Amino acid sequence: MSAITPTVAEHAARRRTVAVISHPDAGKSTLTEALLLHARAITEAGAVHGKRGRQGTVSDWMSMEKERGISISSAAIQFAYGDTIINLVDTPGHSDFSEDTYRVLSAVDAAIMLVDAAKGLETQTMKLFEVCRRRGIPIITMINKWDRPGRAALDLMDEIRDRTGMLPTPLTWPVGDPGHFEGLLDVPSGRMLRFTRSDGGARVAEWQTLEPAEAEASSGAAWVSARDESELLGLDGYRHDSETFQLGITTPVIFGAAVHNIGVHSLLEILADEAPAAMPRIDVDGEARPVDADFSAYVFKVQSGLDTAHRDRIAFIRVCSGRFERGMTVTHARTGRPFATKYAHQLFGQDREVVDEAFPGDIVGLVNATMLRPGDTLHSGPGVQFPALPVFTPEHFRLVRAVDVSKHKQFRSGLESLDQEGVVQVLRSTRRGDQSPVLGAVGPLQFEVFADRMQHDFNAPVKFEPLPYEAVMRTDEASAEALDRQRECEVVRRADGVLLALLSTPWRAKMIARTDPDLTLEPLDDGA
Ligand code: GDP
Repeated sequence: MSAITPTVAEHAARRRTVAVISHPDAGKSTLTEALLLHARAITEAGAVHGKRGRQGTVSDWMSMEKERGISISSAAIQFAYGDTIINLVDTPGHSDFSEDTYRVLSAVDAAIMLVDAAKGLETQTMKLFEVCRRRGIPIITMINKWDRPGRAALDLMDEIRDRTGMLPTPLTWPVGDPGHFEGLLDVPSGRMLRFTRSDGGARVAEWQTLEPAEAEASSGAAWVSARDESELLGLDGYRHDSETFQLGITTPVIFGAAVHNIGVHSLLEILADEAPAAMPRIDVDGEARPVDADFSAYVFKVQSGLDTAHRDRIAFIRVCSGRFERGMTVTHARTGRPFATKYAHQLFGQDREVVDEAFPGDIVGLVNATMLRPGDTLHSGPGVQFPALPVFTPEHFRLVRAVDVSKHKQFRSGLESLDQEGVVQVLRSTRRGDQSPVLGAVGPLQFEVFADRMQHDFNAPVKFEPLPYEAVMRTDEASAEALDRQRECEVVRRADGVLLALLSTPWRAKMIARTDPDLTLEPLDDGA
């Protein structure tokens, strides 16, 4: 270690800011525990994530999360692995998720696609993958649960290639079929990593490195078939290449079993050696802001009522350039007003650690940040603004009303806050008025979260009425009135001013387009 203080660029070069994308139950929480365990951030797995019956939590902030044993809010965990600093940004693991899930992905530079060996690519993995692909971020694939019976490894490679369009390039290859896992072939060195299972994953698995001849002597046919398959893949061009990985054309693949801490070391090595460091962020003018420019960051998520002990509003920022120092006063780009960063935290479960400084790639929670909204830029020095966060197409709709009409003030302020946070989209129209706007969501669980927050954080209990819409298109002022008169169609306005036509079915949209071709009905581009 040099005695010279590292520069901002050197700090940025050490950062890897990543998220795990997976379908519920693929093993994300288990993997998170295992990663932390390897990085020696905790001593015993199980101390971090609080599913029902397990101790401690990272992200069980809301009581609803505790009751259901799922994580709704997202946390970021920072840990060191050698010289590398990894910022692991958590994405909610339930199949009903919100815009917030997508927004989190705007804050990462790479993703880990975690796949259950028996199930292959599942729906939520694919949805999240699409978001990563649109952003062009590199993806590392980990095939998990290889200790259990599952699909053939070659089969899974075909599925990844066919469904994601990325070429899978194995860096390790399993020795033994799923369920009869003996170890891993380390593709670059051709050696075998033989594992001794740890006790239920509570400790880091021990492994031995065997030369090919030793591997063949100890694992026989399983080794030979692993070696042959791996060689075949190599000959077919399934070979890891840093450049194509960084471009999102290929995805390095590793096999493992998070619950036994197998494969986790390989994952950390890839993160450290191959995942991109904190990258310059592109501003609204299309300019890349160098990481060593003056401090800048943007808000990718806002959350209030995180837990009852600290009832407040936290804005999570991702540092894009410069050095963040707690207490510094920065400029809030949207209003041009100063913003004092007196209360800055890193969240590690319910424990908040005060952050004194942070660098590009880091995630910081700013407490009591009432003026900050998702997408806002903070900076010091001359002005800079990062692009707005993408808005996603809602798929579920409800009409909402206050249970107690005398609480209209609380109702209004709750609607505004939760719309800004991205808990739901509030869609307004003259037809519905202010008393009962339409809510739009990507997943129906968002309505429950909304109702819970309205009641507990804003003291405005709500009731819902179903709406018969399953399709949404973009329209314009010229077509709005005529469309609103159509059967099974209603026009509403989103907070950003965009006019949406809600329709009973996609067929209804086609019918209208046929009978009234002059009316504007366009697919809603759901952000990038
Ligand atoms: P999440 O919903 O993606 O966070 O999944 P969890 O980490 O909670 O894991 C879901 C279930 O799969 C739990 O019962 C885990 O113990 C189990 N699991 C996770 N990883 C493995 C693994 O490598 N092998 C096996 N057999 N089970 C695993």
